[in-house]
Amino acid sequence: MNEIKAPKGTRDIFSPEIRKWHFLENAIHTYYRKFLYQEIRTPIFEHSELFSRGIGSETEVVQKEMYTFSDKSDRSLTLRPENTASVVRAAIENNLFEAIAPLRFYYIGPMFRYDKPQKGRYRQFQQFGIEVFADDSPQVDAEVIFSAIDFLKKLKIEDIRLDLNSVGCPQCRPAYLQVLRKAARAEGDRFCADCRRKIDGNPLRIFDCKQPGCMEVAGRLPLIHDHLCAACRDHFAAVREALSWMNVSFQINPRLVRGLDYYTKTAFEVTSGQLGAQNALLGGGRYNNLIQELGGPDMAGIGFAAGMERIILHLEHLGTPAPKVLFVAYQEPQWLPHAVQMAQVLREEGYPVYVDYQAKNLKKQFKRADRVGAAFTLILAEDEIQSGSVSIKDMASQEQIKISLKDLNEWLKKNY
Ligand code: AMP
Repeated sequence: MNEIKAPKGTRDIFSPEIRKWHFLENAIHTYYRKFLYQEIRTPIFEHSELFSRGIGSETEVVQKEMYTFSDKSDRSLTLRPENTASVVRAAIENNLFEAIAPLRFYYIGPMFRYDKPQKGRYRQFQQFGIEVFADDSPQVDAEVIFSAIDFLKKLKIEDIRLDLNSVGCPQCRPAYLQVLRKAARAEGDRFCADCRRKIDGNPLRIFDCKQPGCMEVAGRLPLIHDHLCAACRDHFAAVREALSWMNVSFQINPRLVRGLDYYTKTAFEVTSGQLGAQNALLGGGRYNNLIQELGGPDMAGIGFAAGMERIILHLEHLGTPAPKVLFVAYQEPQWLPHAVQMAQVLREEGYPVYVDYQAKNLKKQFKRADRVGAAFTLILAEDEIQSGSVSIKDMASQEQIKISLKDLNEWLKKNY
């Protein structure tokens, strides 16, 4: 029979890498609770319309990358390609705007995009992200950005760069888009076919194109900075000022537009010098129209999403150690019940403990103890049972001692 493999662009995660995931997930929970974020878990599939309306039907994600299918009742459903639209949907549907304060959410979970797989880019990948609703202060933009940078630094990810931009708002962007469209049309066939299509749809997307020819032409196009309204200009200045209070350094990148349509005002991206082509660690921005767009109140929002696989790639050096195992061995099958009970007591104390039910003799059990990475093997034989003691073999040094059972706890506290 043919072997069935995991679908292209997906991966299995297991030990030892899984320990890095536990480490990262714990770090996220601990860190974001300090800023009063609450975890939210939403379904991994939603009505397709949520994403076409929320992310924008002109975007790459919606046009090319969604896993969309019909269920048995002919509903069009989509595996979520990102989570902001879902969090907004959940907040509206559950009336969270009234129930929860402050309106700060974080999430951890898989996202799905039909993208060309390569190192750091998968079809199922894991993101964590945060969202703050109902706060339009520029200082909250700065705090969101600070938290992203500070979190990465706490993970000892140092070689990073923060790009910052303002993408305007419905007051100033339409006029800028007209100017941009006109300038782009004048360049006409110097753009790739994809970019030519973007001119009429959303010309901002041209700045996302990585084709050298298009990048060169895009370098001559007018920039949003010269077209921001006073409110956007003031907001942007205040974000930069607050970032300086928080000691966050950044580069202004007037061509940073981000892949999703819903951004207003602040947009940002963090890249790593240690990754290859897929160097974006996280990206986000303000989305002051999304909540209303999806049927909620007229309420501001800001957040970011980070790629966890890419963060994990930076955690090599952290190499969280494997837990130290205690192996309880029995010389004869008749001492197995004692071994089982000793294992239960030790687990209650918090130690990871293994008993081998299959091995019929001590030699085989020692072999197994090595395989499971035991630090110590505790041996029960007639002698030990009679005298209320246990022998302990240090698997690294191969030294063996015998101690009284009543001293075991103390001994483990000192030597484990
Ligand atoms: P986005 O939602 O496109 O702004 O992406 C936010 C972050 O998610 C990026 O900076 C990446 O770190 C990560 N990411 C996006 N797409 C993928 C993918 N296909 N595979 C792995 N990580 C991804």
